[in-house]
Amino acid sequence: MSLFGFGGKCEICGCTEDNPCWNPEHGFCGLADDEHTVCTHCAIKEIAEDPETIHRVNDLRKEADNE
Ligand SMILES: [Zn+2]
Ligand SMILES: [Zn+2]
Repeated sequence: MSLFGFGGKCEICGCTEDNPCWNPEHGFCGLADDEHTVCTHCAIKEIAEDPETIHRVNDLRKEADNE
């Protein structure tokens, strides 16, 4: 069960349901608007500007694995 629930993509950071953003306080992102174009971690200023916020967490894992 994903927070996105549709298979869309954030047009600001490019995250998807398989590659969401993470914040220690707010958890994983979801879609913030009805058009499903912006995720909560980009739309909510408090989260977007939090240095703890990591966009597209799987990108980091891929780099670490270096497949
Ligand atoms: Zn985003
Ligand atoms: Zn996101």
